[in-house]
Amino acid sequence: MEEKYYIGVDLGGTNIKAGMVTTKPKVIVKTSIPTEAEKGPEHVLDRIADAAENVRKRSGLSRDLIGGIGVGSPGTLDIAAGVVLFPPNLTGWRNVPLVEHVAKKCGMQTVLENDANAAAYGEYWAGAAKGAESVVMFTLGTGIGGGIIVNGLLVHGNTDSAGELGHIVIEVDGRECPCGNRGCLERYASANAVAARFAEAVKRGEESMLADKVKAGEPLDAKTIEDAALAGDELSNKIYWETGTYLGIGIVNILHTLNPARVVLGGGLVGAGELLMRPVRETVEKRAIPDTQRNCVICLATLGEDAGLIGAAGCALAAFGTSQS
Ligand SMILES: [Zn+2]
Repeated sequence: MEEKYYIGVDLGGTNIKAGMVTTKPKVIVKTSIPTEAEKGPEHVLDRIADAAENVRKRSGLSRDLIGGIGVGSPGTLDIAAGVVLFPPNLTGWRNVPLVEHVAKKCGMQTVLENDANAAAYGEYWAGAAKGAESVVMFTLGTGIGGGIIVNGLLVHGNTDSAGELGHIVIEVDGRECPCGNRGCLERYASANAVAARFAEAVKRGEESMLADKVKAGEPLDAKTIEDAALAGDELSNKIYWETGTYLGIGIVNILHTLNPARVVLGGGLVGAGELLMRPVRETVEKRAIPDTQRNCVICLATLGEDAGLIGAAGCALAAFGTSQS
């Protein structure tokens, strides 16, 4: 049997990324095109198919050598039906039959996966969690995404809604969250939350080398606060320490629930490195039941921006791979 290749697509609100991935896995060709979400679902589905065709043609592979296409999509999904139900960052999308459309247009079997799950699967298959069978990934960006793999399988839950790690509750009467709840992890440990909590502290009167910028209404991001922390700014260090502590508490809850071998942290905020990891490790060591943290490695993601498309290709291999042998 000839070796098959898999196409992974990472659908984002701004860009569609696609890659041709071997079973090794290795990305041999990739592309990124604007999503053009404002032109509506039909147009975006065509763009997904175009991106998949683009990498197929550029890799010089005929359709019969492609085992399938995996698409990682944001929002709530019906994975078995291949339907995107309600992605908050793609306006006008309601119950969009993504799999049917892409499979038909490309002439290749297609599978749908949640984008954060796909990123976790990428790290499990090819990145920081390679070799581990039970893995949990937190993607710390503007919000927090999550993906859970137990015994080599992505956990979808009863209604494909498992892995909402940004919305595990870590404060009883905590900060309000757009999900309608209070005290969600993503209101404390996302990149946006770091900036928001920092600005609030300055407005409460705490001192910082960045205070003038906050008072002048300049928007600060997590990276600016990270730089100030590394330059010795006390408040910036305090905010990062608290952030790592909250994240550590979130991780402790996960260790107690799933006892994974690897916890992978990805997304823009992990650029802060040890500034974040020190309080994370200290909190986990202090608070997790010893048996749940024994042999568990908490590490940074290694695939960066490619995690989603590699993982989506891996999901296609998992879905269709057995039919080739
Ligand atoms: Zn929430």
